[in-house]
Amino acid sequence: MIYGFERPLFGNIALRTHLVVGDRWAMMIDTAMLGFEDMVQEALDLLAQRGVPLAFIVNTHAHHDHIGLNGWVQSQTAACVVGHPWGRRWTENPDLNYREFVLGFPDIIEDSPALREEVRLTMGSPVRVDVGVTGREHFYPGGFDVEVIDLSGHVPGEVGLLVNEDRTLITGDILIGLNLPMFHGYVDPERFCQSLETIRRLVASGRVTRLISAHLPDLQDATEILEQVAQRQRAVGDIESLILEQAPSDALSLRAIWLRTSEATGKRPAFRGLAMVASHLHQLCDVGRMEEQRGCYRTL
Ligand SMILES: [Zn+2]
Repeated sequence: MIYGFERPLFGNIALRTHLVVGDRWAMMIDTAMLGFEDMVQEALDLLAQRGVPLAFIVNTHAHHDHIGLNGWVQSQTAACVVGHPWGRRWTENPDLNYREFVLGFPDIIEDSPALREEVRLTMGSPVRVDVGVTGREHFYPGGFDVEVIDLSGHVPGEVGLLVNEDRTLITGDILIGLNLPMFHGYVDPERFCQSLETIRRLVASGRVTRLISAHLPDLQDATEILEQVAQRQRAVGDIESLILEQAPSDALSLRAIWLRTSEATGKRPAFRGLAMVASHLHQLCDVGRMEEQRGCYRTL
């Protein structure tokens, strides 16, 4: 059985944690963040009522709003922490997580109390990752099969869980928010598109008919999921085109391209979008569509 627990995050965006409960044990998918203890407690209370132990905390990815209460949950259970190996450093070291996630370009975005409050202060105590998964592993909680699916791209290493019996895919942030005031973002456009294609194929083959996630409303049928996937595939293409159009002759800095991309799309310039624009620039240079000289980029 799958259970979802939800609270508003901001505006009409939710933050959720999910439980997959088998006959023998249960797994919690993501632990939200500090300030959401009552939501996660609801999940733990359900397990206590049913007398099912929490065996695993599975972090879809190592962003603050998915790992923040790992330590809090672990202090009340004996659950092992499972996550993609890429996220291990971030999960085990919240200061490093904050530095690399938020302050990756310190010349462009400086540390600030507001950023600390949003990201660093929502992560609780560091916890050790016990098990690394990259996709294709299986869990058997009792009565059914749960398969790990590689859904990287929003971060370099992200996983989802496919509850085969229910044809339900439980995801973190691979279906990024498109209607936020800032870019939700991805840091590897190519892998992001590959993961979107993975979801499309799972739906096309009939293996997935429902997709649930940390922030989006439940997607209850194949058409709805495919439309959401297609919207994100188009968004990647649109952002790439926008970047290529900006520097046809004069080379521009990362900062300039990020600000123009934000302005052209009506997004508030912020750190997630900066990392996304930088990842596009690296990829476009790799494939020879742009060149970089002394920190400035030009379309070829
Ligand atoms: Zn995320």
